[in-house]
Amino acid sequence: MSFTLAIVGRPNVGKSTLFNRLVGKRLALVDDQPGVTRDLREGEARLADLRFTVIDTAGLEEATDESLQGRMRRLTERAVEMADVCLFLIDARTGVTPTDEVFADILRKKSAYVILGANKAEGRAGEGGLLEAYALGLGEPIGLSAEHGEGMADLLEALRPVA
Ligand code: GDP
Ligand code: MG
Repeated sequence: MSFTLAIVGRPNVGKSTLFNRLVGKRLALVDDQPGVTRDLREGEARLADLRFTVIDTAGLEEATDESLQGRMRRLTERAVEMADVCLFLIDARTGVTPTDEVFADILRKKSAYVILGANKAEGRAGEGGLLEAYALGLGEPIGLSAEHGEGMADLLEALRPVA
């Protein structure tokens, strides 16, 4: 059975880098509503033997009249509704930020099935942030490096129960 994974988190944590790694060039359009294709990108992901749909919540970076928080909430809620499971990414090098706490809150309120990923965890610079991530209360964080392809086996294991 196939499932849908939404990658959520604040700008610059590496959502699109991970999306691109999972999808390669197998991109599809989410919707033909104006704005939607720009804000939510959907692709057909492959990870070892797993095949699933992955959604990248883009569109937080652009400047608009809507506040970042309002936009985060709206996009994240929509992604959660479309997805069976969410991969909530934080930046292991930066550690947990107040904006990350806001996302954690949205995900808790929506009772989303969350896998927590601490990205940019290659090398030693991410060790502190990975530890901090436990305090989000969303379970054991997975150390990932979207850029270098590290942690993919752990991500695979976390997705197995959903598949
Ligand atoms: P998004 O805004 O969450 O979609 O983040 P992007 O995928 O656009 O990445 C933001 C920045 O982080 C870019 O400069 C990426 O090259 C960098 N980045 C993404 N993944 C990693 C990683 O695993 N390690 C490091 N060191 N940098 C990363
Ligand atoms: Mg992005």
